Amino acid sequence: MAVITQTIHAGLPGKYGEVALVGAGPGAADLLTLRALTFIQQADAVVYDRLVSEEVLALIPAECQRFDVGKSRGHHSVSQAEIGALLVRLALQGLKVVRLKGGDPAIFGRLAEELDALDAAAISWQIVPGISAASACAAATGIPLTERGIAQQLRFISAVDKNCSTAQDWASLAKPGQTLVFYMGLSALGEICKQLMAHGLAVDWPILLVENGSRPEQRCLLSTLSEALADSQKMVLKSPCLIMVGEVVRRRQHAIVLAEIIGPQINKILAA
Ligand code: SAH
Repeated sequence: MAVITQTIHAGLPGKYGEVALVGAGPGAADLLTLRALTFIQQADAVVYDRLVSEEVLALIPAECQRFDVGKSRGHHSVSQAEIGALLVRLALQGLKVVRLKGGDPAIFGRLAEELDALDAAAISWQIVPGISAASACAAATGIPLTERGIAQQLRFISAVDKNCSTAQDWASLAKPGQTLVFYMGLSALGEICKQLMAHGLAVDWPILLVENGSRPEQRCLLSTLSEALADSQKMVLKSPCLIMVGEVVRRRQHAIVLAEIIGPQINKILAA
């Protein structure tokens, strides 16, 4: 049996720096944790990806070295091996290194590969959690991700795997009683909807897409499995976009219907 007593992984003692793998949250700077902010403010070098917003990058001290290792799908500007090597190189220079990752570093953030690189070089590291897109997008659109009697399970799913395949255990996903959250799913939206319907979910099953969740430019699409693809094309939704599927989303439908019914009455009352 192993007892884990500390969250800081100690590497080589002495002169070497350490790496903090820090969650940058969904974009809004005030959704950073205080711990993340402290690490950013005290960093000698920050290595960040494409999902980290300008608002968060603006908090990096002017004298700090910055490394943009951003990648977009199918276009890896810096390979994962190069990122690992960069972190090790900076730490061996004795620097306080912050590896800033969008959302939570432990969720679809290739954290394991970076920890392996640091461990292989015996560099100290620690992880600072961040608000993941799922929490941020749910909060920003006013839905609970779970609800008693409605959604007892919450599943975070990477819509594509490392080979860009969309293969999933669709039969287990196409079930009521759960909320599905697809990360990196926009390009697979048609396939997601098709498979969920083919495996038994109703054509009018609710789906919510949130583009740029928590950011000023946030846009949302509330739709159904049969119409979501066409609707998303009409809106020209772009990445980063999160897809949430399940009955918890209906709460949003109700809110919109209510707003449509009550809204004009309130306007009339206000105008009177
Ligand atoms: N570690 C990140 C996820 C990285 S995978 C996290 O915990 O949030 C990248 C995917 O996350 C994107 O393709 C998108 O599906 C989702 N995502 C990240 N930030 C987002 C945002 N602000 N709005 C909507 N989706 C977002």
